[in-house]
Amino acid sequence: MKKSMAALMLAVSVLFTGCSAAGNGSKGVEDIQKIKDRGVLKVGVKVDIPKYGYKDPKTGKIEGLEIDIAKQIAKKILGDENKIEMQAVTSKTRGPLLDSGEADLIAATFTITEERKKSYNFSEPYIKDGVGLLVKKSAGFKSYKDLDGKKIGVAQSATSKKALQEEANKLGIKVQFLEFGSFPEIKAALDSGRVDCFSVDTSILSGYLDDNTEILPDRFSLQEYGIASKKTNTELAKVVNETIADMKKSGELDKLIKKWGIN
Ligand code: GLU
Repeated sequence: MKKSMAALMLAVSVLFTGCSAAGNGSKGVEDIQKIKDRGVLKVGVKVDIPKYGYKDPKTGKIEGLEIDIAKQIAKKILGDENKIEMQAVTSKTRGPLLDSGEADLIAATFTITEERKKSYNFSEPYIKDGVGLLVKKSAGFKSYKDLDGKKIGVAQSATSKKALQEEANKLGIKVQFLEFGSFPEIKAALDSGRVDCFSVDTSILSGYLDDNTEILPDRFSLQEYGIASKKTNTELAKVVNETIADMKKSGELDKLIKKWGIN
């Protein structure tokens, strides 16, 4: 009897040691358990990018490719694709939300870069796209070279500015950048003439295309999107990667890309 009591005490103390590691987020396995205990996966998504992550003002529902992928991850961890809590992020807020633990994952047109990989885990890419240029038709620009001396609107903390500067250096042109908190603000600045061009990844731009604007043929700096998690959540990163690998293998990812009309 005494002996089994001692064994029980030991088991309990091992259990508590495990729990405190989960609290620190220093081990991966506990982080999956934390999500299971909570019963919901917290995902940061975009709400202003048609086809990727977009809140339909009519229905109030957030929909898109990245929402569908996040649902598959919730299904894998919690057995139910609806056990997901989404919160709106911007290019600037998505990293800090992972740091603070307010989001388990970020599925928000997040380009995988060497720099960002130092701070976060990124999954295998689920889509690739090049940076593009949205301009007013009336401006008569034919290519990036024509934007010499012009103003370009970009999102804060996005990869666009660096990509555009590198390309400008190659072409020997000078451009000026204005940074905005969200994509609708950049589009408004283009419409009002505050900027001459709105630049970000091309398929994001296509969600903002209208009768008065066009996307120039230039494409550069390939962007590969990955689902990001906090650096210490290694087990979660593994599950995310497995889910994406499964979706690629089964053809589900291609099906979703087609469903959302993404090229
Ligand atoms: N994909 C780019 C990035 O991660 C631009 C779009 C965005 O910021 O969401 O920086």
